[in-house]
Amino acid sequence: MRDMHIHTEFSCDSEAKMEDYISEAKKKGMTTICFTEHVDLNINDHGYHYYSADKFWKQFDEIQSICPTVEVLAGIEFGEPHLYEKCLKELTKYPYDFVIGSVHWIGDMFPCQKIREQYSAKEFYTLYWQEVLKAVQTGAFDALGHMDFPKRYYGEIYYDESVMNEIFCNLLEKDMVIEINTSSLRKGYEQTMPGRELLEIYKSNGGKYVTIGSDAHTVEDIGADYATAKDLLKEVGLQEVIYRQRKRQIV
Ligand SMILES: [Zn+2]
Ligand SMILES: [Zn+2]
Repeated sequence: MRDMHIHTEFSCDSEAKMEDYISEAKKKGMTTICFTEHVDLNINDHGYHYYSADKFWKQFDEIQSICPTVEVLAGIEFGEPHLYEKCLKELTKYPYDFVIGSVHWIGDMFPCQKIREQYSAKEFYTLYWQEVLKAVQTGAFDALGHMDFPKRYYGEIYYDESVMNEIFCNLLEKDMVIEINTSSLRKGYEQTMPGRELLEIYKSNGGKYVTIGSDAHTVEDIGADYATAKDLLKEVGLQEVIYRQRKRQIV
């Protein structure tokens, strides 16, 4: 059991401690976990400029080897990488193992209730996929995070298959992968992000590899619904991977 998407107190929306995650991972018999803190540079985000790489690395270096049976990796979840490429490049001078690129914002729009009242799912997703496409075209990260993120708010998905093919084509050309993010299941939705449909389109475009992450913000959520994600991968015919030192590893 592995978890490649976890937030700790170094993210603005979590108070969880690294060492508590490691103890919990040990209890659950997990082999690899990766801290992927939010790096958000959109001024509207609660976490705007919250992250401190120096503070993170100081703590990470101290706790990294406290449990010999759990491999602990360092990562970031970088928001809207296409808008802040320079900052991302600068930040990845630190020896991160794994970089998730996520689109949370479209300009100053987040899929909160007010926006959902103004934009239908179709309208919002249409704009969203264009941002995802731009993010992927940077080739600047390892895995595309929760690629149908608006689903967590709209509860539904809309896409145009040709746009989806374009996103996957660009992503694979840059040798990147997608993640299966299980946090939507904890919010009461039936599907992971992405769900089977998009995974199948990914595969039909030549996609092979996927990371699995819970997007835990609290200790008890680490590894949540790993088995569900793993079964889904098996059914679709995709392979789970992790990243060490920014290099893909088949597990
Ligand atoms: Zn996210
Ligand atoms: Zn996250």
